[in-house]
Formats: sequence, C-alpha cells, structure tokens
Amino acid sequence: MSLYKERFDGRAFDEVRPIRAEVGIIPSADGSAVFETGGTRAIAVVRGPRTLHPQHMQNPQKGILRVSYGMMPFSVWDRIRPGPSRRSEEISKVTEWALSSVVDLSEFPNTVVDVFIQIPQADAGTRVAGINAAAMALADAGIPMREMISAIAVGKVDKTLIVDVNKMEEDFSEGEGSTDIPMAFTSRRKNIALLQLDGKISTDELKKAIEMGKVACEKVLEAQVEALKKSKSKGIENE
Ligand code: UDP
Repeated sequence: MSLYKERFDGRAFDEVRPIRAEVGIIPSADGSAVFETGGTRAIAVVRGPRTLHPQHMQNPQKGILRVSYGMMPFSVWDRIRPGPSRRSEEISKVTEWALSSVVDLSEFPNTVVDVFIQIPQADAGTRVAGINAAAMALADAGIPMREMISAIAVGKVDKTLIVDVNKMEEDFSEGEGSTDIPMAFTSRRKNIALLQLDGKISTDELKKAIEMGKVACEKVLEAQVEALKKSKSKGIENE
C-alpha cells in the first residue's frame, strides 16, 4: 500500500504541470526557445552551423552537435556554484546524445551547431525541460531534424508512479528510495532518445513508467508544435 495518495499540488498522478512554450525569444540567435513546466524553466539558444575550430576536431562527413547545460546560480534557493560541475557535464552529454538521434548534419561537414541551455528557475525536471527547449530551438534555427523530441521525468514516490515530478515530490521519500526516470521520445517513431534511472524499480513498474511518460510526452509535443507553428505564422505575417 502506498502512503502517497494525493499529490501536493493536487495534480492527477499522470498530469503534467502547466506548460508554456515559445520560440524565437532571442532575436540575435540562429534559433531559441523557452520551455516551462510549473516552476521549472529552460531557455535554449542555438548558434550555427559554423566552421568548427580547432580544425582537427572537424568531421569531414558531417557537422557535430555540441550541447552545454547550466543552471543559473539563483535558480534554486540555496544557490548553485557557477561554472561546470559533474552534474552539468553529464546532463550536457546525455542531452547531446538524445538530440543527436534526430538531428541530421550530413549537409554541413566540418561545422558545429552549438546548443546552450540555461535554467533560470528550477523545480525538478530541468534536464527534460532543457531537451524540450533545445529541440524547439534547433527547429527554430532550421537545423534538419528527422523527428521532434519531447521529454518528461516520471517518478516513483513511495510506491506510486507520477508524471512530471516537482522538487517537493522528489524530496518526499528521499532516503527511502525515491526514483527519478527522465525520458525522451521521438515524435513519429516514438523511439526512446533518453532513458535514465536514478533509484530502484521493478521491470513491470519501469514498463508502466515508460508508458506513462510516452503519453505525457504527447502533451509536451503538442505545446512544442503549437509554439513552432505560431512563430511560423508570425514570420509569414512579417513578410
Ligand atoms: N537541484 C538543486 N541543486 C543542485 C542541483 C539540482 O537544488 O545543485 C534541484 C533542482 O530543482 C533540480 C532538482 O534538484 O531540478 C533535481 O535535480 P536532478 O539532478 O535530478 O536533475 P533534473 O531533475 O533537474 O533533471
């Protein structure tokens, strides 16, 4: 029997926090986006493709994608130390791998596409919010993508699976083994582009968590597509 019967913010177990998604927020960038769920906000800025230096890092077959994720010092109440950390390096890498599964830079040999993700405000789930913002910013920059990517974190609090975990929920059963499962899916084939697991879970529960995440990602995708459509129609109006 689970002790966790009702969520602190009153959401249903499979309910995503309110989403806000917008592209083109930084006019001087090649692509940009903001993705917000509840108290978590991610900003992504894309620069490129441009020639990669130093030259020995270039790939003559295709361009490379480079992701940098960081949380702003004041994004959480106890302040984050500025600069890279093991955590930010890990999140940058997994985000890069997730996005690389859909981005096609074969037309841009010897180049780099840089994706900068910043978290000005964090209430858990920042890596998945970052992936959502980055995918939108890449599309906004016109980078060829085979599919879109949408991400969500599913958690297990006590024995209950919940979607889009917030920080209070994440902390609730810490020590007794709260489980956090960030995941990302491609929009058409529904391939898993990211799956991380921090904590313990049975195989059956993991399968259920993935299914819940997949359904929740449809909501994320809707918001991403809506935001991209809006910016397109704005562009047409301006022409
Ligand atoms: N967090 C924090 N200080 C840190 C790192 C994280 O307060 O140095 C908080 C922040 O709200 C973050 C949450 O802990 O969203 C969960 O962090 P985690 O490493 O699980 O990654 P995330 O869920 O953000 O992808």
